[in-house]
Amino acid sequence: MTITTPALDPALHPIFEASVRRNPHEPEFQQALHEVLDSIGPVVREHPEYLEAGIVERLVEPERQVMFRVPWVDDAGRVRVNRGYRVQFNSALGPYKGGLRFHPSVDLSIVKFLGFEQIFKNALTAQGIGGAKGGSDVDPHALSAREVERFCQSFMTELYRHLGEHTDVPAGDIGVGAREIGFLFGQYRRITNRHESGMFTGKGVEWGGANVRTQATGYGAVYFAQDMLAVDGRAVEGRTGIVSGSGNVATYVIEKLHQLGGRAITASDSSGYVVDERGIDVELLRQVKEVERRRISEYAERRPGSRFVPGGRVWEVPGQLAFPSATQNELAEADARALVAGGVEAVAEGANMPCAPGAVRVFHEAGVLFGPGKAANAGGVATSALEMSQNAARQRWSFEESEDRLRAIMLGIHQATLEASERYGRPGDYVLGANAAGFVRVADAMLAQGVI
Ligand code: NDP
Repeated sequence: MTITTPALDPALHPIFEASVRRNPHEPEFQQALHEVLDSIGPVVREHPEYLEAGIVERLVEPERQVMFRVPWVDDAGRVRVNRGYRVQFNSALGPYKGGLRFHPSVDLSIVKFLGFEQIFKNALTAQGIGGAKGGSDVDPHALSAREVERFCQSFMTELYRHLGEHTDVPAGDIGVGAREIGFLFGQYRRITNRHESGMFTGKGVEWGGANVRTQATGYGAVYFAQDMLAVDGRAVEGRTGIVSGSGNVATYVIEKLHQLGGRAITASDSSGYVVDERGIDVELLRQVKEVERRRISEYAERRPGSRFVPGGRVWEVPGQLAFPSATQNELAEADARALVAGGVEAVAEGANMPCAPGAVRVFHEAGVLFGPGKAANAGGVATSALEMSQNAARQRWSFEESEDRLRAIMLGIHQATLEASERYGRPGDYVLGANAAGFVRVADAMLAQGVI
C-alpha cells in the first residue's frame, strides 16, 4: 500500500513556526518536532480540548533543561573542559527517563530531538515513564579507560543533583555502555551515600541490572519487524538483513535475526561497513567492537569470506529487511531508493531518527513496511522500566521471563501503533500511528493534571 505524507494542520503550523523562532539553531529538534506535528493533525481535529488547554504548546517546550561544565584532567595532566546536558522534557506519565549520549556531535539540538522523541516512545511502552535525554560532546573513543572514568566522575558530580529514582532515571546511549554506566553509578553512590538502584538503568546484572536490558533494543526492533511482516503472513525466516552500526543495538538486532531464521550480512561503524554473506558472527563482532574497541575493518581481517568497504553506504547492499542502528539521519533519500531497488520489504529503525524525511517518503511510496524508532526501538526503554520495577521490589527475573515480557510489550506497541494508524485514517502508516498513540497518552495525562 502506498502512503502519502499529510500536510501540517493549520492549527499546528503556528506552533511549529513559534518553536522554530524560539529555537533557531536546532535543526534535529525541528525535524523531530515537524514529524510529530505532521502526524497529530487528525488527533487534535477530533480533540479540540487538547488545543484549548495548550497541550501542544506546552509539550514542545521542555519542563527543564540543564547545561553544565564538565572539567577533568587527562592522562598528560592537562585540564580539559566538555559540556554536559540533561533535558527533562516531560514527566506527565512518570519520572523523566532517557539515555545519556557521549559523542563529539552532541549539542542542545540533538539532546532535545532525542528527549522529545523519548516522550512519545515512553508513552507507547505503557510503563509509566516520562521523557528526557542527556549527554556530552566528549569523544570516548579518544580517551583512555582512566580518562573515561575521570570524565564520568566529573559529569556525575554536577548531574547527580537532578537525578533520583522518582525524579529522573538515565540509561546508556551512543558512547555510554556498561563501562560508563558503572563509573556514573559509582560516583552517584559515593556523592549521595545511597545505593539507589532505581536511579540508573542498564546497570551490570550483578549489581542491580536486569536480564535482557542489554539485548532489549535490538531484540525489540526485530520483534517489531516480525510483527509488521506477520500482518500479511510474511516472516523474518529466510530473509536477509542489512544492519548499520556495530554497537549495542546493532549487535542484538543481528543476534535476534539469526535466532528467528534470518541472516544479517552487514555491520558498520563510522569508518565503513563489512559484508559477510554467511551471516555476521556476533561473537567476533562483540570481541572486535566491545571488548577490544577496534575498528570494524578488523572483523573482515579475522573472518574469511567477509569484506570491508571503507567509507561506503551499507544501504547499497541488497536485502529484504533493513535495520538502521547507528545514528540520526544516516539513511538519506538516495539510500532509501537503493534499498528499494535491492528489494527491501521492511525497515525497522533501531536507532533514533536514522531515516531522513525524504527516505521515509520513499519507503511509504514504494509500499515498504516502515517501523519508526519511537515504536521499533522502544524495547530498550521498556526493559529499563522493568529494571526499575525489579529494583523497587528487590527482585531479579530470569532471562526467559524478562524476554517474554519484552516480547509481550513489543506486541502491544505494534498493536497500539497499527490501531492508531487505522483509527486516524492512514492504515499501515506506523509513523502516524506511533506519534498519535503516544501523543494521546501524554495529552490525556497533561489534561488531567492541569496547566503546569
Ligand atoms: P553504541 O555507542 O553502542 O553504537 C553506536 C554505533 O553507531 C557504533 O557502531 C558507531 O560507530 C556508530 N555511529 C555512531 N555515531 C555515528 C556517526 N555519526 N556516523 C557513523 N556511525 C556512527 O550506541 P547504541 O547502539 O546504544 O545506539 C545506536 C542508536 O540506537 C542511537 O541512535 C541510539 O540513540 C539508539 N537507541 C539506543 C538504545 C539503547 O538501548 N542503547 C535505545 C533506543 C535507541 P563508531 O564506533 O565508529 O562511532
